[in-house]
Amino acid sequence: MAKNKARTSSPRQESKKTMVNLKFDEMPAQWYNILPDLPEPLPPPRDPEGGPSRVQNLPNLMIGECLQQEFSTERWIDIPGGIMDLYVKAGRPRPLFRATNLEKRLDTPARLYYKSEFFSPTGSHKVNTALAQCWYAKQQGFARVTTETGAGQWGTALSYAAAVTGLKCTVFWVRSVYNWKKDRLSFMKLLGAEVYASPSPMTEVGKALYDKNPEHVGSLGIAISEGLEDSQKDPKATYCLGSVLNHVLMHQTIIGQETQKQFELFDDYPDIVISCLGGGSNFGGFALPFVGDVLKKGKKIKFIAAQSKVAPNLQGKYEYDFADYAEITPMLMMYTLGHKVDMEPIKADGLRYHGCSPIISLLRNKGYIDTVAYPGDEKYVFETAKLFMETEGWLPAPESAYSVCAAIEEAIKCKELGEKKTIAFNVSGHGFLDIHGYRSVLGLE
Ligand SMILES: *Cc1c(COP(=O)(O)O)cnc(C)c1O
Repeated sequence: MAKNKARTSSPRQESKKTMVNLKFDEMPAQWYNILPDLPEPLPPPRDPEGGPSRVQNLPNLMIGECLQQEFSTERWIDIPGGIMDLYVKAGRPRPLFRATNLEKRLDTPARLYYKSEFFSPTGSHKVNTALAQCWYAKQQGFARVTTETGAGQWGTALSYAAAVTGLKCTVFWVRSVYNWKKDRLSFMKLLGAEVYASPSPMTEVGKALYDKNPEHVGSLGIAISEGLEDSQKDPKATYCLGSVLNHVLMHQTIIGQETQKQFELFDDYPDIVISCLGGGSNFGGFALPFVGDVLKKGKKIKFIAAQSKVAPNLQGKYEYDFADYAEITPMLMMYTLGHKVDMEPIKADGLRYHGCSPIISLLRNKGYIDTVAYPGDEKYVFETAKLFMETEGWLPAPESAYSVCAAIEEAIKCKELGEKKTIAFNVSGHGFLDIHGYRSVLGLE
């Protein structure tokens, strides 16, 4: 190219604007609590017939501030400055990308945008609530947090949040995943956490199952019971949950609120909002601010929750069920497959949970949310994730691959129908520590 040939336009004018981000000053300073805006009051947690009251025991299980938030009727809740600082340290705000290469490859008239929750120190959106919970736990004088983890993302997020807020962390990790995610295990240990394969001999619930079968594959429900029991035995410890509960979804609304502002900067607005759904935290965090637009501003949006056929909890029964295997938690009104159900292992283990968050369940029951479930062998889903990689270059977490897959299906529908829809999807995490999963499913040997 001739160096001094006169340009007719500036590089900025030539750019297609494929990314938008916010400045610190533009970062949302409040979480959005959808409870007062729901079409009907959310059915409260309930006790089963007989036995001790789980509801009355909640203050012993949960961080006080989080318990208050769980039932708050305030629409907006200030994010404390200390938590804002932690969010920034963890890479917030996170960009919204336009998937121009993927659009071209699919030859679709649809416009596709994806939120980059993979820009996370531990690899997922889960740090958004982990940081809030640890900050409040520290304020309340706790020295240790306990939890369960399935895919390992939540355990890593809580280990990280505990590290940066000066707390100890104990993680009970579903054995079927613990056994193969060696890198993630080391990651948690590097962050200073104590990690046990669950069922473990460390708790009574765990020991009963462990003694019968030391190779028991475990489940999220069992691991939750172990985390709860461990925290109950230590007055300096409190339990943290990474999904399902109202306050967890509320902490995650930072994702959707940022996305709303970023869409303004793109001068666009979504017709379809998509995310993967296990317990509902990333879907809720991404979608609920937009659901608020539908409920209050008359916007029309199609919401799609992408799931696995191994755990299609949104296609289960809408009824009261326990959140954990050992029935320590109160019963929640939710779509559930039953808290004792056995589920086949999949690589997207974060989607393998028997129940869906009560908030999302109510919205689903009222017809606001659609769902799709993909085959358990995961070939189809991971192939679409590969297409996303070959075009956009980012490696999604196995769970996020379900979101990518649903977005690609909608974009193809737009092509068939000649519709120029705007599709927003959340990429809840990266898969750098899950390449083994892709390798075994796609045969990349
Ligand atoms: C945990 C996890 C999920 C599923 O959990 P939700 O609470 O439904 O969001 C999805 N994606 C990633 C990357 C996760 O770590």
